Amino acid sequence: MTVEELRDAGVRAVALVLVDNAGITRMKCVPIDGLARAAERGIGWSSVWGLALSDDSFAHEPGLYSPTGDVRLRADLDAAALLGCSPGWAWAPIDHYEQTGEPWAGCQRAFLRWMVERAREQGIELQAAWELEWTVGDDGPDGFEALHDGPGYGAATFGQTGDVMLELFDALDASGLEAEQIHPEYSDGQMELSLAVREPLRACDESVLARHVVRTVAAQAGWRASFSPRVVVGSVGNGAHIHFSVWRDGENQLAGGDGPEGLRPAGEAFLAGVLEHLPALTALGAPAPVSYARLQPSHWAGAYACWGNENREAALRLEGTGGPAAARRANVEWKSVDCAANPYLVVGAILAAGLDGLARGCTLPPAVSADPAELPEGERDAAGIVRLPETLTEAAEAFAASGMLREAMGEFLHDCVAAVRRAEAAATSGLDEESLVERYRWRF
Ligand code: GLU
Ligand code: MG
Repeated sequence: MTVEELRDAGVRAVALVLVDNAGITRMKCVPIDGLARAAERGIGWSSVWGLALSDDSFAHEPGLYSPTGDVRLRADLDAAALLGCSPGWAWAPIDHYEQTGEPWAGCQRAFLRWMVERAREQGIELQAAWELEWTVGDDGPDGFEALHDGPGYGAATFGQTGDVMLELFDALDASGLEAEQIHPEYSDGQMELSLAVREPLRACDESVLARHVVRTVAAQAGWRASFSPRVVVGSVGNGAHIHFSVWRDGENQLAGGDGPEGLRPAGEAFLAGVLEHLPALTALGAPAPVSYARLQPSHWAGAYACWGNENREAALRLEGTGGPAAARRANVEWKSVDCAANPYLVVGAILAAGLDGLARGCTLPPAVSADPAELPEGERDAAGIVRLPETLTEAAEAFAASGMLREAMGEFLHDCVAAVRRAEAAATSGLDEESLVERYRWRF
């Protein structure tokens, strides 16, 4: 939207938003009169925020950490939206630029753009859709109090959830978002929203905007929304599943082919690349220590690196391949991702890994239809099904060792993310699940 369109729509202030490497959404706000300047010249931001941890401290990585240095945050007006639930407000994502006007090497949104461009050069296009889970509740005198206490998908929760869902449908619509579905989910207070399919950058922007709207609507109803991967000890966690389809020459490469489960060769190679790099990608999809409380076998969270058609325990779940709409609908859901993840890094990394698989002509192992956790260990090993990292430290080391991600992200962004992961793990080492859950409950 243009500044004039926003002004004509009654906008008086704009929330400019970024997601950092620790997955924290941060904002700076400008009055409408300052928006043109924020879009053209940008506003100041210390480059040290590339090393920010979730508790607002910084990874003091030698050679990277410095209190000196400033980047410019430029509002992307093409992606600006009205904040339907906050009259007078608009929202826009930002890009990081050098003072000289070049995109900053640490900009996560620029990384996604580069990967989209790299794919385009090879005739590949990705379509993406986010499915977000969160928990509505608040801290009470006796611990966490939830908006509803189930049952999962329970119509019995309607008395508690009906008004909130209606407000949410309205607020999402008034913010230009297309909510395909909302429902009360499995855990106490848990809810889920499915967003419409978009091109990658827009899908990620919309997932950030949707979370903003969800948090606002919950606050307006007197509650708080938490996107933390696990909000209550022992509960089913909150995922942020990313669905993607791979297109070439206008055709979905995940259906209509002679490969396994009907994949076309490019779809198989792309998926095989993502599968092969999944342990390293886990540091991006499950970036917080508390992510590993969620990423457990037999919780539909995708704890094993394998793929399967409609298998909800496979990290990569192929779906939508049956019936006449398969050519349009077939997609893969990467289930191991949660909302502590920076969406731009996640989708950029999917593209990088998939394109690597394509370049090397990778092929897939057989699809898995069982819960890998229930297979005898020998059978799992023989099928090459590996458990994804069980701690952030393990994931961080797999990420740091990934030459593929280093090449795609560039050394600076790769180093910053590795430093943030290691520091986040060090800051929480020895904490039990209860302390982790409390530490992160209101950060995401
Ligand atoms: N809550 C589960 C998770 O942690 C996902 C449940 C579902 O498949 O919707 O990802
Ligand atoms: Mg769900």
